Formats: sequence, C-alpha cells, structure tokens
Amino acid sequence: MPTNPCPSAPVRGLIPPVKLITDERCAGYSRYAHPERPARITATVERLKSQTGLPLEWIAPTTATDEQILRAHAPKLLARLKIPHDFDADTPFFENISDRARASAAAAIDASKIARAGENVFSLMRPPGHHATREKSMGFCYLNNIAIAALDALATGTERAAVFDFDVHHGNGTEDILLNLEGTAIFSVHQFPAYPGTGEKNAGNNCFNYPVAPSAPRETYRATLARALGDLKNFSPDLIAVSAGFDAYVRDPLADGTLLAEDFQWLGGELRALKIPFFSLLEGGYSRDLPDLILAYLKGVEEK
Ligand SMILES: [Zn+2]
Repeated sequence: MPTNPCPSAPVRGLIPPVKLITDERCAGYSRYAHPERPARITATVERLKSQTGLPLEWIAPTTATDEQILRAHAPKLLARLKIPHDFDADTPFFENISDRARASAAAAIDASKIARAGENVFSLMRPPGHHATREKSMGFCYLNNIAIAALDALATGTERAAVFDFDVHHGNGTEDILLNLEGTAIFSVHQFPAYPGTGEKNAGNNCFNYPVAPSAPRETYRATLARALGDLKNFSPDLIAVSAGFDAYVRDPLADGTLLAEDFQWLGGELRALKIPFFSLLEGGYSRDLPDLILAYLKGVEEK
C-alpha cells in the first residue's frame, strides 16, 4: 500500500468527522406534552446514526465546575436548581435537572475547546440555555450554556468571542450575561414580536439584535441572517459560539418562521466559510423534522 508522503496533509477525499457531543441521560427527564421533549435528541441521534454520507464521531460530555458556571450565573441560581418547585410555567423542576443542566453546560465548554483545537463540533444536548439569565432559569433553559462556554474561552486565552444566535427566539439570557462585556459581542437573529418579548433593538455596546417580523418572507429572513453574519465578521472574533436553534423552520409549532432545511445547510456553510473556529449548541427546534434540519446544518458545517 502506498504511504502518504506528508502525513499532516489532508488525504484527498478523506473528510475529518464532525464531533457530536451527546449523552443519553439528557433524554432522561420530561413533562407530558412539553415541546422540549426527549425525542428531540433521541430521534436526532437515530437519524444521524442511520446516515452514512456525513462522517461523525460521537463523544460524551465531561463535567463543569462551579467556578466555570459562576462566571455566568449568580450563586443563588445554582442553588435554586435543587429546590423542587417549577421555575415558571414553561420551565418545570425535575429531580435530576441540576445534573442535566450541568452536563449540558459541560458539553458547551467541551465544544468550545474542540473548536479552538481546529475541529468541527456540535453539542446535541438538552436542556437548551439561551433564555437563562444571570439570576433566573426560564423558557425551557436552566443554565446558559453558550454564555458559560464563551466566558470559559475568554478566561482561558480567547481574546474576542462572538455569539451568533439563530434560534427564532431572542437570546435574552445571553444578552443579560454578556451585556457590555469587553471582548464579546452577540449577533441575534430572531422573530419579533415573540417570546420572550425582548430583542427589538440593540442593547449596550455589544448586543446586536436583528428582529424579523412574524411570517416574513423566507428571502427576508435569510437576508437578515446574512447581514448579521457580515456584522459578526467585522467584529473580527477569534471564536464564534453558535446558539443553534431550529425553530425558525417553516413547520415549527412554536413560532412563525419561514426557513427550510436548505437554509440551515446554507447557514452552516456560511459559518464555515468565515474560517474562524466555531462551535454550535442545540437551542430550540420543536418540529418533527428537527433531525433532518440538524443533519442539513451539519452538512453545511462539514469542511468541503
Ligand atoms: Zn427558540
């Protein structure tokens, strides 16, 4: 068999896998009829494992320390996760939610480290995080995974971290935590008006909001995403943390977005084309087609 004369050079046709971080225990809690349900993960794992076109490598999350979490949250929020009362009407208490939320945050930090090492990575975990503020769990979110990961990166050598949030809902929690924080900027494209009612205008000196009207034409939605990505590029980050929500999809039951699967593939490709290390975390996405939407996005993310 001929040997590769330069072992560090990529072999033609051999595509490095996208690393998928997941843990079957993240499907281990649920409340009847709640849209943020275990099948979001289990059906996606099944879909991704049944396809052969996209090389994937599956890894489990490590753990997150209190120090890492408390960069983003008040100590009282961490304590609150163990008190057996619902957080709000959308955000139930579960016996194991503290452990599950911490695992999701750990996966986010892991993803950030993998991206900084030059690899493609997606954290396929629940609960999501972008609505959790410094002091409050809300909107299906308990700990703000993306903010925790961004702050960990900044504490360990990253100088400029951008958050790109394409969930159809405004990432109010991420904005609350990173507002006016030097070395960070948030670019959030979302429907307005919609839950949680924020994100109509920019906030502070580093939170850039791109509201899209309910049922706006798909071309408008996509042009807004492109505009936000252009602004993000001008910020010149050395790391991009992506809050990847798939609920701007035309058939999502929770909002009035108009995007198709191919738009998520396009989005993954646009992020890849920036040639800046980036990692993505699952936020929302509640339609039955979620597995196909994530697969489409990963195809875009995959290096050509
Ligand atoms: Zn959402």
